[in-house]
Amino acid sequence: MQSSPASPAAAAEISPSWTTTSAAKLNHELAARYGESERRRIQRGLDQVARFWRADDGDATTFEGFVRANFAGDQAMLDTIFNRLERMLEQLGGHMHEINREFRQQLDLDLGPVLPLDEMIGGYDPAAHVADDFFQNKLAFVVLLNFPLTTLEERLKDGPSWSRRQWAEVRLAQSFSKRIPADVNLGIAQAEAQTGQYISEYNIWMHHLLDARSQRLFPPKMRLLSHWSLRDEIKASYADASHGLAKQRMIQQVMERIVTQTIPALVINNPALDWNPFTNQVTAAAVQDSDAAAAAANPSDAREPDTRYAMLQKTFFASRKADPYSPTAPTLIARRFDENREIPEARIQAMLEQVVTSPLVPQVARLIESRLKRPLEPFDIWYSGLRPGSQYSEAQLDEMVAKKYLTPQAYQQDIPNLLMKLGFSSERAQYLASNIVVDPARGAGHAMGAEMRGEKAHLRTRVEKKGMDYKSFNVAAHEMGHNVEQTFSLNEVDHVLLKGVPNTAFTEAFAFVFQSRDLELLGLPAPDATSDAEKTLNDFWATYEIAGVALVDMAVWHWMYDHPQASPAELNQATVQIAKDMWNRFYAPVFGEKDVVLLGVYSHMIDAFLYLPDYPIGHLIAFQMEEQMMRAGAIGPEFERMAKMGNVTPDLWMEHATGRPVGSEALLEAAQRALVAVCGGS
Ligand SMILES: [Zn+2]
Repeated sequence: MQSSPASPAAAAEISPSWTTTSAAKLNHELAARYGESERRRIQRGLDQVARFWRADDGDATTFEGFVRANFAGDQAMLDTIFNRLERMLEQLGGHMHEINREFRQQLDLDLGPVLPLDEMIGGYDPAAHVADDFFQNKLAFVVLLNFPLTTLEERLKDGPSWSRRQWAEVRLAQSFSKRIPADVNLGIAQAEAQTGQYISEYNIWMHHLLDARSQRLFPPKMRLLSHWSLRDEIKASYADASHGLAKQRMIQQVMERIVTQTIPALVINNPALDWNPFTNQVTAAAVQDSDAAAAAANPSDAREPDTRYAMLQKTFFASRKADPYSPTAPTLIARRFDENREIPEARIQAMLEQVVTSPLVPQVARLIESRLKRPLEPFDIWYSGLRPGSQYSEAQLDEMVAKKYLTPQAYQQDIPNLLMKLGFSSERAQYLASNIVVDPARGAGHAMGAEMRGEKAHLRTRVEKKGMDYKSFNVAAHEMGHNVEQTFSLNEVDHVLLKGVPNTAFTEAFAFVFQSRDLELLGLPAPDATSDAEKTLNDFWATYEIAGVALVDMAVWHWMYDHPQASPAELNQATVQIAKDMWNRFYAPVFGEKDVVLLGVYSHMIDAFLYLPDYPIGHLIAFQMEEQMMRAGAIGPEFERMAKMGNVTPDLWMEHATGRPVGSEALLEAAQRALVAVCGGS
């Protein structure tokens, strides 16, 4: 993959020329005052302040006065400054996050119609001005004067020998490694809110899909959110012996029309029309299955006019405006990999390609074909038969879950019980449950942690009127894994500046640990050795699928940076081509069919700012952690030990947790063993 060109830095962002002379003068002065031994620290602080100082911040006298007053000449003063900043930033971040959560309530929770007002409130980010304010009042310069800015390279090379306090200082300084104007940050938050809203209402009314003989394959009232619920319905349909295959082919057709934007605009989130996704014929609905008054709509097959890609471009344009203000990571791509993930992009790409080109892939594919008794079709990238749970039908599981959880409150009350099934002590389970609040989700569900000690994590889950269904329970298990990690890594970590995990892939990995045990959480039997092997192969197949999706996301962002003037139609065309190319390279040899666009269907691609690589990395990391959990026995205590490590680099974290750096080897080795166990060494 080619590297993207950096955006041209704005000329106005260059520091005044006198800062060089002032810094040299102060270097001598402070070294004379505090001793030669402090020289390196003095030089570093002066360089860092000078790099971000603007003419607006004051003249040479102001600069010099500021440095004299705020440089910590000895360890005692450095400790005082560090401790005050650590406490103050926790309070600020924690309360800002509370405001955000409250302001997004109508958008995120199932609380009735969303007004234009709610979108304005949800798009507002009270923290958008904080970094700007802190440069203005010079608090950011206090940090830059006294604590070290680092590159990813330095953190990878030197991080293993740093103390916890040194790590906390590095994270403190990193919060001021860029100086992005507030209006740019606000633009990013607005793009996020607008695209999120577009995605959260992208439902398909399944009973209104017609096949060639005008038959309705799906039940009344079924409304599936793209892409999550559509994909999950493909997975569930393997259990439907009579109509499953027809349903899966139809959903694939719907997905392809979403990616290529040949979907008729009027059938999106509209129960008033019937639609044949193969011929694209649209007619007035012949049946009514919605409580809501059907929207008046003249049947038309006019396609969605590239809105999907116009939305994606909103996130790109907003992100790109931040580029000139982020000198050490001058593209969204660099910010994602060097800052958020802290694993170089090239290394992640190599790990993913190691999975998709593994010789194990065709072997697992042949195993799946032998079970399906037919050649693979493209939607079989979501094959769900390699799991212990497939002995129960979706309907049986739905019934079990609905009986237990009629309301979000019922789930809330059961959390301690669920956690004890995973080996948490009664005391730890109660403690965790008291830190998690369950809310009714508008979308498929998500987890929202707290940002300050004493605040609670929120678990958003979807509960329909007839009770929770199995899909939502599975998602809720995932989100609960997030919430437990969030609770430990905030409340139990030694420095609150080190709260959290190295990157999002780690919180996903923790979530997978819970999600993969959803049947045990339902009180169904723990899987035996063969089931474990099946589960490993399932994870391997899922990683193979999502690695391709992630590689498409990465390539599309590179394409946008290489073609910043492109129209939504051109981005549509490019994305379709990238999805086909990726399919042809890594999937067509296994599936025997070319030019499939399914890898482009994920909604995250539109509203999540290059988030998708976190999922396959999450699988690899989950695998490493899972192996560690099994070595340790009970999940609870080991989960807590790992989560308390906090936010250091991924490799350092993983070395501490498992004795190995991040990599795909654990998954590939386990998949090899599992294949032998399932196929008897063939
Ligand atoms: Zn997650």
